Amino acid sequence: MLGALFAASPISLSALDSATRPANRPGRLNLSFRPYELQLRHAFNLARNQRTTTPGVQVQIEYDGLIGYGEASMPPYLGESVASVTEYLSKLDLSQFSDPFRIEDIHEYMESVAPNNRAAKASVDIALHDLTGKIMGQPWYRIWGLNPDKCPNTSFTISYDSNPEEMRKKIEETSPYKVVKVKMGLDHDKEIVEALRRHTDVPICVDANQGWNNKEKALEMCHWLAERGCLFVEQPMDKAAIDDTAWLRERSPLPIIADEFLQRLPDVRRAAQAYDGINIKLMKSTGMHEAYKMAVLARALGMKVMLGCMTETSCAVSAAAQLAPIVDWADLDGNLLIANDIFDGMKIVDGKVTLNNRPGIGVVPVG
Ligand code: MG
Repeated sequence: MLGALFAASPISLSALDSATRPANRPGRLNLSFRPYELQLRHAFNLARNQRTTTPGVQVQIEYDGLIGYGEASMPPYLGESVASVTEYLSKLDLSQFSDPFRIEDIHEYMESVAPNNRAAKASVDIALHDLTGKIMGQPWYRIWGLNPDKCPNTSFTISYDSNPEEMRKKIEETSPYKVVKVKMGLDHDKEIVEALRRHTDVPICVDANQGWNNKEKALEMCHWLAERGCLFVEQPMDKAAIDDTAWLRERSPLPIIADEFLQRLPDVRRAAQAYDGINIKLMKSTGMHEAYKMAVLARALGMKVMLGCMTETSCAVSAAAQLAPIVDWADLDGNLLIANDIFDGMKIVDGKVTLNNRPGIGVVPVG
């Protein structure tokens, strides 16, 4: 399937290698990309919207016969689209780079092309990490010096469904996982936890998606959830409500984690004013290069680190998973929530994020 996906790609420089390029001439980076819409297995009912698909773009960087895979996923609330990602990627001329290990330089170049486009930049960053890992013959968690045995369990996300039968099915699907993440901020916050608790006592984590609109309600929910085996609460209130969130943190029995509040490295220090921890996602951070720096800075500031994802194929999820050994909590279920994955990569084994020994980001195309 992936071959067909890229069938219309321009012919790669490496394919022309022996015919057109003199021996020993350094290779060049050849970027190609195609839209790929992700089909969600269940409609996502979030505090502020519902959706059944997520737009995505699949990326390849080819260099001297090796291919690095990358991916952009664009949930609508982040403001990127297939059009904006492909327009941005079309502006990039990666053929000016002959060394794929110049990841810092390539990020500087990508910033110079446009300031935002974080998912688009992430797709290039992921493909570069996959490519350079393959050149070195090592997975990135090893290159970073991380112990894969330290990966945490992942949470598995469910959202409320007013149909009790559908709700029961959703809860049944959580049975292989050791942590369940509950989307809140709607009118049924307590019902979903009560429904869950009728079936399981696994720890839950809560993502309010900015849905609690006053600090007293948020505090009451934090106490209620703490009594029901909740580990932490993610983005309880509007990302602009910094003072109210700081007020809540002072009083909450549960850690308060920033998600929508923060995107990139400079946001980590701001988050420390009001939150106990941060949720790092590659589509916000512009990829693995900055995500690693964010994790290190958050640790240095004494903050908790959570690793999240969007709905993504195993490509972007496996890229994020390379960082899993240095985080407190993982929410890497994006590939499990879609019906049309086109990669084999990291696995969830007995609830735990499980990395493989493949080089780069550890994926191979399937399907
Ligand atoms: Mg979140």
